[in-house]
Amino acid sequence: MNKSLRKPLVVGNWKMNKTPHECVELLDELIPMVSEVDRADIVVCVPFVDLCSAVEKTRGTNIRVGAQNVHSAPKGSFTGEISAEMLLEIGATSVIVGHSERRTYFGETDETVNLRARAALDAGLQTIICVGETLTDRDAGITEEVVGLQTKIALQNVSAEQMANVVIAYEPVWAIGTGRNASTAQAQEVCAQIRSIIGKIYGDFIADRTHILYGGSMNAANCADLLNEADIDGGLIGGASLKPVDFTVIVKAANNN
Ligand code: PEP
Repeated sequence: MNKSLRKPLVVGNWKMNKTPHECVELLDELIPMVSEVDRADIVVCVPFVDLCSAVEKTRGTNIRVGAQNVHSAPKGSFTGEISAEMLLEIGATSVIVGHSERRTYFGETDETVNLRARAALDAGLQTIICVGETLTDRDAGITEEVVGLQTKIALQNVSAEQMANVVIAYEPVWAIGTGRNASTAQAQEVCAQIRSIIGKIYGDFIADRTHILYGGSMNAANCADLLNEADIDGGLIGGASLKPVDFTVIVKAANNN
């Protein structure tokens, strides 16, 4: 697989952190730190209420802005939800779908993840689909099966053309927010399996061009080794994305890859 076909991508997932005012303060610090980065794409996925401030603040910079979820319907009686069209209109370019916290705490299933992903893709948003096994799955030796099934269901009825906007984030649930990252070998193995599944569905041309990220306690100390792996095209970063210095180290490691 030719890694040079894929521009590195680093996505920050701020989760439910930072008010609009704090969002601008963080971006004020981050923007000059990463301004020289030109060989990696940078996205920050902020809380819904921060989107407008973040889009405004990053205008004309090399940072793009994304959301952390999107509803599958274009509009309607879905209290508390946000549509893809709403995200587009305020200038978001990207959205995370199927994060394990959504699956664990908010009842997301592989099927709802697929529906949300398709709505985002239909609207033309870069769609970062999260997959990953629990510790129980890993200990039972079924990581490949679990992640394979999540990936296949998430991509049901996604066209070959839409794959240009698909990013798969491999995030082992046991590594998220725990300080315990997957080893480079573990992360590479699963990312390669995901690419192979994409190859079987869409062919090698698309598989070679699809971004697959690793996420799960990636930080300034461990990012270089993870990002060096053949099938890891960047990172989905939680905790470290709230620390401009650490996030910049990760972005620069991706930029040098
Ligand atoms: C995440 O929330 O997607 C994530 C990877 O979190 P952390 O980096 O904190 O483990």
